[in-house]
Amino acid sequence: RVSVTVFTCDLRLHDHPPLCAALEGADAVVPLFVRDRAVEAAGFATPNRSAFLADCLTDLDGSLRDRGGRLVVRSGDLVAQVCRVAAEADAGEVHMAASHSAFAARREERLRRALERDGRGLVVHDAVTVAVAPGEVVPSGSDHYAVFTPYHRRWSQAGLRPALAAPRRVPVPEAVNGERLPARGEVTGVSPALPAGGESAGRERMTAYWRTGLDAYDDTRDDLAGDATSRFSAHLHFGTLSPVELIHRARRHGGPGAQALVRQLAWRDFHRQVLAARPDAAHADYRTKGDTWHTERTASADIEAWRQGRTGYPVIDAAMRQLREEGWMHNRARLLTASFLTKTLYADWRVGAAHFLHWLVDGDIASNQLNWQWVAGTGTDTRPNRVLNPVVQARRYDPDGAYVRRWVPELEGVGAPAVHEPWKLTGRARSALHYPDPIVDLAEGLDRFRRARGLQER
Ligand code: FAD
Repeated sequence: RVSVTVFTCDLRLHDHPPLCAALEGADAVVPLFVRDRAVEAAGFATPNRSAFLADCLTDLDGSLRDRGGRLVVRSGDLVAQVCRVAAEADAGEVHMAASHSAFAARREERLRRALERDGRGLVVHDAVTVAVAPGEVVPSGSDHYAVFTPYHRRWSQAGLRPALAAPRRVPVPEAVNGERLPARGEVTGVSPALPAGGESAGRERMTAYWRTGLDAYDDTRDDLAGDATSRFSAHLHFGTLSPVELIHRARRHGGPGAQALVRQLAWRDFHRQVLAARPDAAHADYRTKGDTWHTERTASADIEAWRQGRTGYPVIDAAMRQLREEGWMHNRARLLTASFLTKTLYADWRVGAAHFLHWLVDGDIASNQLNWQWVAGTGTDTRPNRVLNPVVQARRYDPDGAYVRRWVPELEGVGAPAVHEPWKLTGRARSALHYPDPIVDLAEGLDRFRRARGLQER
């Protein structure tokens, strides 16, 4: 008996229910990854994520080889390729993880029907890419939670399946062949400081963070210069770390740091259950506020200055430059830059979300689009009109300016607090900086936003 396991956003061997189920009672399993042309055509396979993915596939193949197997990689339409491999292997069942976008749901349905026509079964496993599957906790009278706090309460009480050990052996049938694995070095346009991908790198990061970062997470996670968050996001996006395993480990570890990390993992599931119920929220306002946002056409110079990290607001510029350099940005910085674009410049959140999706190695439809909507006030924020002031926030979360100086070399020699308001410097101190003046006055931006939303003027 042979089965197929299709890997998608779960590129690991530890805690992998679809692979464990496929191995149960089977003589051999085909571990298959399909480079889905539809994902590439949709522009989702950006350089940073393609490079990270190449690392993930190389690492997964290595781990499978250590267990007597190998990874089979194919390219094309996922449904056609899975059916072809299943036929070549004469497999009875195909196992894969559930995923929760509209695209994934349609693809899964097509695959189920195509396999059924060939007399084969598709087994879809929940709680692989998330800890608590969308629809598992629902409020009465609705199909999803629109507010995080009550969702979190119920999510925390939901039963979690046990984390599974990595299989010791994965026998793969000789007859099934794959393509050459993609290599990171073949991808161009990658951020210079992009981290390494793969389950081995993810598990190393987990072990290190448990030793040195987790206990302080609750106190340090907003400290921009301290860079003290887990950096698990890309590993969670590609599934090189398991959310279920992380939560079990964090709960066993205990303490405020571990508790705060688990709460952030609940945010990840929260956005997925919103997207599963409201797939349109990937592109359209979750809650319409009647905004007539600025677009590329109406504010291209301002939007481009934001993208390039040349707005004249140091903390915004530092964050936007970090994004290009590392393919990652600190959560507090994501909040500030998104608030600046949508509320201070009053530009359409979709413009910012698209830019983030291009660069972020953890770029993810649910987390990205719904966090953008949260900040823009069109999403699930219960205070949709709050505006983050970049100077006040910079003083609070980067008090001595180290984060700004790390990413904005023009301000290298400027101390705090001037480093957050360099336009206040005078004479040579100012003219020697070669740093732009602010592109917008914060008070004017705030007035415009409030008028647009029909709120009282300050
Ligand atoms: P940690 O603080 O260590 O958190 C641990 C994990 O919890 C993260 O890895 C992540 O999986 C999850 N998490 C934390 N905060 C959130 C959140 N607000 N929403 C969902 N999950 C969360 N996260 C993405 O993974 N992909 C995105 O495309 C993405 N886009 C964002 C866009 C904006 C405008 C904002 C404000 C936030 C976005 N986030 C996104 C959420 C968050 O900023 C990142 O998950 C976090 O910064 C990643 O760093 P970390 O792994 O060190 O996080």
